[in-house]
Amino acid sequence: MDKKLKLAVIGKPITHSKSPKIHQDFANQFDEKIEFRKDEVAPDKLETWLADFFKDGGKGVSITLPLKEAALKYADEISDRARLASACNVIYAKDEKLIADCTDGVGLTKDLEENLKVSLKDKKILILGAGGAARGIIPSIIEKNPARLKIANRTESKALLLKENLESKVNLNETDIIFEAGDLSDDFLLDDSYDLVINSTSVSTQVGESMGLPKALYSGTKLAYDLFYSAEKTVFMQEALENGAEKVSDGWGMLVEQGAESFRLWTNLIPDTSRLLEKPID
Ligand code: NAP
Repeated sequence: MDKKLKLAVIGKPITHSKSPKIHQDFANQFDEKIEFRKDEVAPDKLETWLADFFKDGGKGVSITLPLKEAALKYADEISDRARLASACNVIYAKDEKLIADCTDGVGLTKDLEENLKVSLKDKKILILGAGGAARGIIPSIIEKNPARLKIANRTESKALLLKENLESKVNLNETDIIFEAGDLSDDFLLDDSYDLVINSTSVSTQVGESMGLPKALYSGTKLAYDLFYSAEKTVFMQEALENGAEKVSDGWGMLVEQGAESFRLWTNLIPDTSRLLEKPID
């Protein structure tokens, strides 16, 4: 009998995770037999869970909130992408070692550039929010050489923390990077216009909640992208369309693409994401 590849996704909460279905779709493309667990793991149980999983022959695990930073401690090696993000969303076994990596950034840039056909080079980009997701995506965005990147966050201390982390680790290339903090409904966001507006705040997790962004924000915006994914358009997406953004997208494509990159790390196989991109899983 074929041995199944042991995979998992962990976090708290975890019931909502679509990872098992995404990876089953990828595995089916190659007739790869997988066993994909979905386990709720609290931070204080993470070390034991990882030790048991890999001792039992586990190959790879997707890591989600609130474990992405803590999980770095338990890896033998940390990839450049995870080091730059100070967080990982995947750990896998390779040559008797546990490697931590972060595939969120490449998941986003692939979705933007290849699926949505929005190039980042020389563009003006606004990122709203300075939490874990922002940390994961910013290094990959800078790598694409945008002309200007503004990062705006409601709480100043978090914006400053992100700034220090980036300045100490990331090659800022030619990109002009600006950090700002304040109430996101204020006019300070209107000092410039943006080709791309990315919502990396967690506001869309509260269904129906608006950040009250200024209406004039979207003049000249080609794409307003919400990292959150949902079957319905989020309030952020609705308001962007109403106020002049040419196109909107949620973060489903990013989730699928980061999953594809994780699957590649686990199996050396590159899955076709097109079917999942067309038809989100229920
Ligand atoms: P996080 O670390 O908790 O950070 C949350 C951020 O949102 C903070 O900057 C916070 O600002 C800001 N925020 C929350 N409510 C706000 C409001 N009402 N107005 C203005 N700012 C607000 O969360 P995260 O891990 O970065 O996740 C952010 C989002 O990304 C979530 O929706 C998550 O589902 C999504 N995500 C998607 C993918 C994907 O693959 N598509 C991957 C990762 C994350 P303060 O500092 O002021 O509190």
